[in-house]
This record gives sequence, structure tokens and C-alpha cells, in this order.
Amino acid sequence: MTIGFIGLGIMGKPMAANLMKAGHRLVVHDVARDRLEAALAGGAEPGTSPADVAARSELMITMLPNSPHVREVALGPHGIVEGARRGSILIDMSSIAPATSREVAAALAARGVEMLDAPVSGGEPKAVDGTLAIMVGGNAQVFEQVKGILLKMGSSAVYCGGIGSGNVTKLANQIIVALNIAAMSEALVLATKAGVNPETVFNAVKGGLAGSTVLNAKAPMVLDGNFKPGFRIELHIKDLQNALDTAHEAGVPIPLTSQVMEMMQALKVDGKAGQDHSGLVQFYERLAGVQARR
Ligand code: NAD
Repeated sequence: MTIGFIGLGIMGKPMAANLMKAGHRLVVHDVARDRLEAALAGGAEPGTSPADVAARSELMITMLPNSPHVREVALGPHGIVEGARRGSILIDMSSIAPATSREVAAALAARGVEMLDAPVSGGEPKAVDGTLAIMVGGNAQVFEQVKGILLKMGSSAVYCGGIGSGNVTKLANQIIVALNIAAMSEALVLATKAGVNPETVFNAVKGGLAGSTVLNAKAPMVLDGNFKPGFRIELHIKDLQNALDTAHEAGVPIPLTSQVMEMMQALKVDGKAGQDHSGLVQFYERLAGVQARR
């Protein structure tokens, strides 16, 4: 099958590579020249615009930063909507506001194009391995039709409900991850200042109830003072803003999320928006005047 792929960044590049490895022909597009050229070197064909990609594909995948980028690529000038064939499918795998997924899907449906929202969790290493966790919203029959393709990029693809449900699930995921990082940071800084080595604390608790995938992935980064992304603080700010907007529209106060959002905003002011989100520990380190290192 010919697949159109738009957005070849940290995540999109390895996801597109896995689809090619699985034998699909890819037509790709990115506004960043260097990212487009890297994908072309891997054997993909260039598309001049989202409309051109859509005209040459049965299935389109987008992996873009946020809601405005998806709206622009799908519905803007030279967008997917201008080139897509009736009966083709767009799978948007970006993490965006659920309300935007619903808005874009409705506009595409009016032109006979189906859409699923299918954001992912797992970060670059799992995008490279093809073991992402994929959460999907949209028409259940369309999901069954494309599940095999999703499983070339992920080890799981879970159907979550109607359009927008994938992104609601992803927001839940991002709240859990952000709050876990904040809890870990609070705990490791406390341990350090109270006189216990933070690495010892990590080793002692990781096999118990406090252990988690977040702890195993992020505590070693904190202990090394290595905040190379990974998942950038600025992207997590974007996700928490989408979570706050979605929660408030739904009438759900999310007080812990708003606290962590303000910690991330403080780090952004401090010039750290490009760091990995494990860099959140520095907010606590500054308050306490210690560093939780090995
Ligand atoms: P990225 O910034 O590395 O890549 C986004 C790509 O989209 C860039 O190459 C950019 O040039 C391209 N782009 C932007 N606007 C465009 C347009 N109008 N037309 C064509 N291309 C355009 O971001 P990423 O880390 O790959 O993340 C992509 C999405 O996946 C985000 O929503 C992010 O929240 C989500 N996500 C990221 C991670 C991670 O660890 N990086 C993990 C899970 C989910």
C-alpha cells in the first residue's frame, strides 16, 4: 500500500522507516528541508505539499507538533483536504487537543475522507524499535482496517472510542507521567537533603509499590544530571495545556496538573524548555539548594 507520511521529526522519522521496512511505499513531506532529505535518503518519495501527498496515497499519517499544525496540514492551503481521494484515510498520530481531532475529522468527512486520532506513548526509543503504545479514536471498522499497519509502528494499538478518544487517553497518559516525574523529583531531593544518597533510594524503592516505568526511565537521568531530550519540557507544557483546556471544558478541576504546569513554566522562564522533562527535578533542587546526583 502507498502511505503518505507528513511530519518527519524525532518520532515521525523512525515510524516512517518502520513502515518502509514492512514493505510499504512511502510519499513523505516535511517543512524542514533537512528532515525531508533524511527520509528521502531512506528510500521514500518526496511529496511537494500535503495535498500532493494525499493525491498519491491511499492512507495518510501525520506526526506533527500540535493542533494548529494538524489543522494547517489537513485543512489549510494545499492541505490534505485538497488532494485526498474519497474513501482514503487519515491517521493523525500527533498529540493534540481532542476538540481539534473532532473538528478536522468533521471537515474531512464532508469530503468523504475518514480520520482516526492515534497518538502514541513510548518516545523515540520505542518509535525506533516499533514498540510504541498506540491509543486510537474514530470509527471502529476503520480502526480494524488499519490495525495491522499501526502494529508495524507499535506493539499495542488499543481502540478507545469515537474520534478524539485517542487524544483524551493520551492526555490522561501525560498527566500520569508529569505527576510521576514531579513525585520522583520531590522524593529524591528530600532524600538528598535529609542525608540519604538518591541512587540508594532509587535502588531500594524501584522493586516496591513506588516503582514505575517513569521512575526506571527518569531517575537515572536525574542521578546523572543528563537532561538531553527525549521528551522536551516544551512539548509537555503543550500537552498539559491541552489537558487543562479539555478538563475545564468538560467541567473537571485538575489541581495537581496545574501545579506541575507552573513548575514547567518556571523552568521555561529559566531557559530550560528544550531539556528532557526529567529536568523538572531542577525546580525542586533550586527550592531546596541541593542536587540529587550520584
Ligand atoms: P518534532 O518537532 O521532532 O517533529 C515534528 C515535525 O513536524 C518536524 O519535523 C516539523 O518540521 C514538522 N512540521 C511542523 N509543521 C509542519 C507542516 N505544516 N507541514 C509539514 N511538516 C511540519 O516532534 P516529535 O518529537 O516528533 O513529536 C511529534 C508529536 O508526537 C508531538 O505531538 C509530540 O507531543 C508527540 N510525541 C512525542 C514523543 C517524543 O518523545 N518526542 C513521544 C510521544 C508523543
